[in-house]
Amino acid sequence: MPQKQAEGLVIKNYSGFYYVQDKMDNIYECKVRGKVKEKLLSGDRVMFTPLGMRQGILEKVMPRENQLNRPRVANVTRVLVVMACDQPKPDLGLLDRLLFLAEFNRITPYIILNKCDLDIHEHAMQILNYYPGTYKVIKTSARQNIGIDMLGDAISGEIAVFAGPSGVGKSHMLQRLIGQADIRTGEVSAKIGRGKHTTRHVELYPLPQGGWIVDTPGFSVLDMPALKREDLPQYFPDFTAQASDCKFSNCLHYREKECGVKTAVGEHIILSSRYQNYISMLQEVMERERCY
Ligand code: GDP
Ligand code: ZN
Repeated sequence: MPQKQAEGLVIKNYSGFYYVQDKMDNIYECKVRGKVKEKLLSGDRVMFTPLGMRQGILEKVMPRENQLNRPRVANVTRVLVVMACDQPKPDLGLLDRLLFLAEFNRITPYIILNKCDLDIHEHAMQILNYYPGTYKVIKTSARQNIGIDMLGDAISGEIAVFAGPSGVGKSHMLQRLIGQADIRTGEVSAKIGRGKHTTRHVELYPLPQGGWIVDTPGFSVLDMPALKREDLPQYFPDFTAQASDCKFSNCLHYREKECGVKTAVGEHIILSSRYQNYISMLQEVMERERCY
């Protein structure tokens, strides 16, 4: 009798084996069937044939929703863009760029304001005042273990990756999240042989609320991807409502007259740094277009 196949998620690749988590949260150490030619990534959804309770044969890779290259991981559904309330003060330019890159990759971004145990820098105030209209904003303190449950809930059922500058507390947050996870998956961690580090592969950590966190920060490459200038505005969802007042339907909100977005900036409906950051990205896109 042929064994029945099951669905699973690749959470780790370690010395020639792929570790596949099934719907019941069991983890199988899988060899890949020879006919599978695709290069597998953590985050890949697969079909596999269980051989007993711990081993299996990986039979097939399902089509990917998306794929990040740094870190190399498939099917990410959440980017947690981390800024600190202070130390370092939030970099609004980087924030807007990371939000754009998330949108461009069709991944839902959340903004995490960590170090909420410190006094709030003016830039962090601006984040709290403006961005919740468009994005979910969560305040945390990895140091004092505040908001980590909320962060876990936000990841529930999702594959999430951290992004943001160094020093904002991403490693500490990861430790907090995984620390909780270890209570539940302690046995599993032992089984998949964590600690014996050889080659560095991206790993997805299963969390207690369900969902997975990628064990390394994302989007370390911040170049603008190849896109046409007229495709940029759609990745700024907070501009959409205002753009209905633009004279031209393909308005770039740049040199045009009668522009709803520029009017909204003048009326402080759109945050002016946000608009300025959009213009810098637009100029970069236009520079690159000239190179084609
Ligand atoms: P990463 O570079 O983003 O991974 O940041 P780290 O996790 O390495 O943290 C950078 C520094 O910020 C360390 O000195 C941490 O102790 C400190 N830190 C992390 N989280 C918090 C927090 O919630 N509050 C405060 N005050 N400091 C924090
Ligand atoms: Zn416009």
